[in-house]
Amino acid sequence: MSKTLPNLQDMMRRLVATPSVSSLQAAHDQSNRAVSELLADWLEPLGFEVGLMPVPGLEGKYNLVARSGPGEDGLVLSGHTDTVPYDAARWTRDPFAGEVHNGRLYGLGSADMKSFLACAAHAAARINLEKLGRPLVIVGTADEESGMGGAKALVAEGEPLGARAVIGEPTRLRPVNRHKGVLLERIRIEGRSGHASDPAAGLNAIDGAMAAIGALHAFIDGRAEEFPAAHFPVPGPTLNIGAIRGGDNPNRICASCELDVDLRLVPGMRCDSLRRDLRAAVARALEGSGFELSFTVLFDGLDPLAPGAEKALAQACEHASGHSCGAVNFGTEGPLFQQLDMEVVICGPGDIAVAHQPDESISVAEAYRAVDVLEQLVRQFCSQAA
Ligand SMILES: [Zn+2]
Repeated sequence: MSKTLPNLQDMMRRLVATPSVSSLQAAHDQSNRAVSELLADWLEPLGFEVGLMPVPGLEGKYNLVARSGPGEDGLVLSGHTDTVPYDAARWTRDPFAGEVHNGRLYGLGSADMKSFLACAAHAAARINLEKLGRPLVIVGTADEESGMGGAKALVAEGEPLGARAVIGEPTRLRPVNRHKGVLLERIRIEGRSGHASDPAAGLNAIDGAMAAIGALHAFIDGRAEEFPAAHFPVPGPTLNIGAIRGGDNPNRICASCELDVDLRLVPGMRCDSLRRDLRAAVARALEGSGFELSFTVLFDGLDPLAPGAEKALAQACEHASGHSCGAVNFGTEGPLFQQLDMEVVICGPGDIAVAHQPDESISVAEAYRAVDVLEQLVRQFCSQAA
């Protein structure tokens, strides 16, 4: 198929075999340099001009931007080069071997989403890049799984990447142009300790937390009525209280209690205003009770993805895949890429249902189908000058 590239399955295996875990916990965090260099080594001989840019403030992390073709209004094929951490004891196969069994390649990041980057390179290899009328740009971002620092750096740089972007997160090759947003918040309630024999002598922060929890549920129920978003697999905005910490002894009045909250937003909602309204709702519920409230941003947030006015890429993906655009619950770098004035569609091989868990795998045949789809898109959007 290509004179310069290894075969697709071999490239998928080598990407999986090159660890690039990103994690907010320093003990698990790794550089993505090796995997980015591997991609650069494949893309340069095809005729791409490859830049490997350090991400400011994130040591050892690099964004890869590979361009071929004239102009600025081309097609971007983008994937993140990092993976989540893994639980070695729960894997029944080597997470870095890329073994193939019954047509599936197993390994950390096989579905989410190293294979897509190999598919993008193979699609490029099928095309005479010297004859492109508009640029083909392959992007490999850093740290998607630990705060999207790579994509945020691309937005901060503000360099235009292209007019349209396919982000190849695993959607089983079905195009997606809507997804939820997310923000994470910590709420701390301070009361006063005292002897349990006289509960009125203190101010029990767990009671305050219960009032806060009631307010959180009422808040999200109100938002769900306002934004039903019925087309999502999990309709409407949701709230999860994932952790609660407070108190020590049964015979002491609890002086402080913390709640860690995950909120999922739907199109029409924005992280900054949702966070402000949420804080106000909790503050109102505890007003005059004597508790002290404080809030900490655990993750500043990812806005939901909704289609813009431009539809050409969405229509082309629908045509190439045979599926109409859908909505998913998980978040992507799409809303960040939209800030660089691109039409964004999420579409890639692999199933999100096997991602972030032991024995992650991808159908090799589906990866080959992805190359066909990407080749079609590149021919449509890069062949001729606009
Ligand atoms: Zn991913």
